[in-house]
Amino acid sequence: MDDAKTLTREIDELCRREKIKCHWKEITDCSLNRACMATREIWVFKIRKRVDWAAALHEIGHVMCDPEVGDTDPLAVLDRECKATEWVIERYQNDLDLDCWKRMEHNITDYKAKVPNLPADHPVHTLLKTIQSHIPIVAPSFGRKPKPPK
Ligand SMILES: [Zn+2]
Repeated sequence: MDDAKTLTREIDELCRREKIKCHWKEITDCSLNRACMATREIWVFKIRKRVDWAAALHEIGHVMCDPEVGDTDPLAVLDRECKATEWVIERYQNDLDLDCWKRMEHNITDYKAKVPNLPADHPVHTLLKTIQSHIPIVAPSFGRKPKPPK
């Protein structure tokens, strides 16, 4: 069981150490999580589950990786999302649960789909493979047992 208070304290401490101002949003807030690198601020949902904690780390990752930001073309956005996600994985991969990995896969796949003519050697390909290696593949069985090998 995750203790939301402990996870929240962890984020608060990290923010204090890195001089980042964290704005905690209520769950009724419909704005997206975001980070402002210039002023070192993040806006994230109050933590209820580990996946919220990972989302807060992701925004901290943006502040840590991208001191200056301007470019909004899809490739630049994808680059930044990859960097922030890698920042979290490098430091916290052993603390991420399945929900965290699934959410990362969903988000990165989304950003990737927005880039036309994505180069084959872009780091996102390796990143996605890493993320997917933490997500078990469940094959549909349709209630049948696999055929025994002959
Ligand atoms: Zn992001």
